[in-house]
Amino acid sequence: MKFEILFHTLPAKATAKPAKLKYNKNGWVSEEWDDNSLSALKALEKLKTKFYTDGCDNKIAYTAAIAVNGRSNYNNEEIGLSVNNINYTQMKQLIAAGWDIENHSYYHEPYNNFNFGNDRAKNIIALDTLILKKINYKMHGLVVPSDHSGFPKAAKEAGYIFSTSQGTFDGLPPGGVPVYKDVQDFDLAPITFSSFNRMFYDNWTEMENNVKKAIDIIVQKNHHYFRFASHGIDEAAYNRIIDYFETKTNDKILFIPTREIMEYRLMASLPISYQLSHDRLVIEINTASLPARCRWKDLSFIVSSDAQIKSITLINGIDRATFNAQTSLVNIFKQITSWN
Ligand SMILES: [Zn+2]
Repeated sequence: MKFEILFHTLPAKATAKPAKLKYNKNGWVSEEWDDNSLSALKALEKLKTKFYTDGCDNKIAYTAAIAVNGRSNYNNEEIGLSVNNINYTQMKQLIAAGWDIENHSYYHEPYNNFNFGNDRAKNIIALDTLILKKINYKMHGLVVPSDHSGFPKAAKEAGYIFSTSQGTFDGLPPGGVPVYKDVQDFDLAPITFSSFNRMFYDNWTEMENNVKKAIDIIVQKNHHYFRFASHGIDEAAYNRIIDYFETKTNDKILFIPTREIMEYRLMASLPISYQLSHDRLVIEINTASLPARCRWKDLSFIVSSDAQIKSITLINGIDRATFNAQTSLVNIFKQITSWN
């Protein structure tokens, strides 16, 4: 991936570095619905009306994720073909809206009529294969079904970048170390695989109280995050939560899938070369080590120069770019949404 920044005047110096978080924000929040819950579609209606900015005056809608299963433990029905669940067509609509699809195990439980027993890897890989076949989408994150241990480690083995649970971490950081807090420092989360904690409530009075509390905390922190999840939705409570988030966070906190923020950090850790020649700074990102699962190949750069940015020229591997001439923030975008 390569692009160049053109300056208005000849710079005496011009350097750049990736922002710690996408769009140089202060923190992030992620949300998901488990078990192919149709409540995700109600949430989408609210979230698509709310925005943060990319730091360059462009609106980015809030997005979340849906954790999906493969087949029913009871009758072996394919969940993505069931009318009572998020189906394959709706998954594609969510992906197009910027949402992520997360692996929640082929069979939810290791028992009942149909199951893969305690074979965690088989559950993860069979669902990964099914989703790839049905909607050409490669997943990169796992939501632990119930509290079954072994899923975080198996997700890591499968090449995923994160797992999440309210209590099952297989000892992996950041959730698996004894510093559990709802709002946590992102620096404690390993770049290549993180086992995240999350708040989980089906009671939306509890959800509203706890998420609002977490919002009050995260706005006072730098580089922190929290996650929350449910099976259902109380739309009135949900609207209040999202409105509260928007007002309190004041465009400083991302409302984003965990995959997107983890992939951002992977991008920011790649080797990058910077070459200033005359009035241009050429930036090249070496993506050779990037996993093929990576969907969001976006990066935000903080440019430091005595000259003002005039324009960006894309050279290769980048879909588009935005920049802010006042703050010298530059964003580049590249997204994969279909795999073979
Ligand atoms: Zn579940």
